[in-house]
Amino acid sequence: MTDNKAAEKLAHDHLENVFVDLLDVLSAVKQLSELSCLDSDEEVLIKKALSTLVYNQDMERCSFFKLVDNDRLVNVAGLSYLEAMDDVEFFATPQEFKIGEGLIGLAAQTRALQHCHNSQTDERLKREVSETGQKLPGSIISVPVFAGNLELVGVLNVSHPEPYFFTEWHIRLLEIYKNILGQMISNFRLFHKMETEIVARTAKLQQSYDDIKRLKEHYQNISVKDELTGLFNRRHFYNHASVVLARFYRYHEPMCLLLLDLDHFKKINDTYGHAVGDDVLIAVADTLQKEVRECDILVRFGGEEFVVIFTNTSCENGIQFATRIRKKIAGLKLDITNPPLSVSVSIGVFCLDPECYSMDKAESQMSIDQTVHYADTALYQAKKQGRNCVVRYCQTDNT
Ligand code: GH3
Ligand code: MG
Ligand code: MG
Repeated sequence: MTDNKAAEKLAHDHLENVFVDLLDVLSAVKQLSELSCLDSDEEVLIKKALSTLVYNQDMERCSFFKLVDNDRLVNVAGLSYLEAMDDVEFFATPQEFKIGEGLIGLAAQTRALQHCHNSQTDERLKREVSETGQKLPGSIISVPVFAGNLELVGVLNVSHPEPYFFTEWHIRLLEIYKNILGQMISNFRLFHKMETEIVARTAKLQQSYDDIKRLKEHYQNISVKDELTGLFNRRHFYNHASVVLARFYRYHEPMCLLLLDLDHFKKINDTYGHAVGDDVLIAVADTLQKEVRECDILVRFGGEEFVVIFTNTSCENGIQFATRIRKKIAGLKLDITNPPLSVSVSIGVFCLDPECYSMDKAESQMSIDQTVHYADTALYQAKKQGRNCVVRYCQTDNT
């Protein structure tokens, strides 16, 4: 082979090597950019990043020293070429440096790449070699890694057993590589910070929603509940009675409305005081509560008056229920006074029952107030008849 040909072949081989190296660099960068910051562990992510470097480049060993508490560089991931090839699990030796200490600490302090061509003669590593007696690899490069906002996140350290091994090529590659690595760590932290914030905000929102729901229920309750007896109040009655009335007109479902009024209640107040009067109201309310079904409506209508609507109940049954209630209350022995106190109620009943209410005659649907008015008319009769009795208002009786 002539000299020219030999030189040509040498140049060709060199170009081919450069081309292969270039492909390796691109592979490393491509693999690095493909890593997902959705990984749950930052150190796992860094380890994966290191393997892309070791796998595609002829670096014997590389490790990452993470900046902790702003003053320590702690070795959190490391990988050797053999480990990367065999996919061997690496447990980082718990090695750490202070800022300014050794080549790694110096890279962090100066925020600039530190290249040691020969660890045996390098001044920067003198103390490390003498203090630890450690045999250091021949060539070492330590590169500071920054997050997007130029905040130092750690130092990337690569080494090779041979001195004078690394070239400008490696340095350029590491400059690009550390930028991508820094951005990746930055993205990872941002993503997880956002995730934590979202979880915290969601919990706060849920808390506010629960509070609002509780408050709403509370105010809904107090707006329809009677504070003294715990029964529903007149507002609840008007909200629900219209449905019962509508069912009568639409499905001919009978209903009975009872208006109950305590007899001579004023006298109880006057004799025993208002507090005893209150206790009587509570005791009567409890008795009524036990006498009505879930589907019925029971409210304290005001003062010493209560209203019950027996739904889907015939007039005959309604009168029976009213009589049972009257007797129950008359039979109470309230030991809130000595001797125990007895009370009685008068009850006016209005039945909406197709048997005694002619729907043909009705010109229009009656109002709730009208049904209460009819029951009140019957109640007035009951009071007139001597109290402690049940009187029915029925259209056929009154027309
Ligand atoms: P009648 O048999 O004709 O119904 O006589 P009465 O004394 O029960 O009727 P009146 O309407 O004269 O008196 C009702 C009394 O009920 C007057 C009022 O002070 C009392 N009252 C109303 N609300 C309450 C309350 O919440 N607590 C107490 N203790 N008394 C109340
Ligand atoms: Mg009254
Ligand atoms: Mg009364």
